[in-house]
Amino acid sequence: MKRKAFFLDRDGVVNFDVRYCHEPEKIELKPGFAEGLKLLHAAGFLAVVVTNQGGVALGMYESDAVDACHKRIQELLVPYGEKIDGFYYCPHHPKVQKDCSCRKPKPGLFFRAALDLGIDIGSSYMIGDRISDLEAGKNAGCRQGFLVDSFYFAEHAPKARKAGFLCVSTVADAVKQVLELEKARGS
Ligand SMILES: [Zn+2]
Repeated sequence: MKRKAFFLDRDGVVNFDVRYCHEPEKIELKPGFAEGLKLLHAAGFLAVVVTNQGGVALGMYESDAVDACHKRIQELLVPYGEKIDGFYYCPHHPKVQKDCSCRKPKPGLFFRAALDLGIDIGSSYMIGDRISDLEAGKNAGCRQGFLVDSFYFAEHAPKARKAGFLCVSTVADAVKQVLELEKARGS
């Protein structure tokens, strides 16, 4: 049987966005993230990070730095007894590669994760801090996208609402809404 998942943008959703974050020591988990992770795992979902890391293509940092940041996220989750089930990132940037199939809002990362982890994207959800994250989730076929409060919220929330996405304060809030919705529909 296929699994269902929460796809999560990284910077601004899992950790605070410090722009082209590539130093593990600068990773700080956002409030409500670990709690949300606990709730979604308890409900049988997987947690998959999908992140654009164009800084790799731009030569700002190496893919090793991306891996080090992901390792740091896992370390920070240990005290909560939690972990991320998969990290997928696009190392490309339009200034370097005209076209790739994985930079969000393209859905390539979602498809790769779905193949690897046996995920049914149609029963899965996307949480991002920018409208392009939510569009990526929609392009992949996710059931619903959530815009989480961050630096971009004031600018992106009106557009997100107009496009049918839901706005939340934290990842935990998004997960709670999904669990309520699923309870109501009996799935
Ligand atoms: Zn790419």
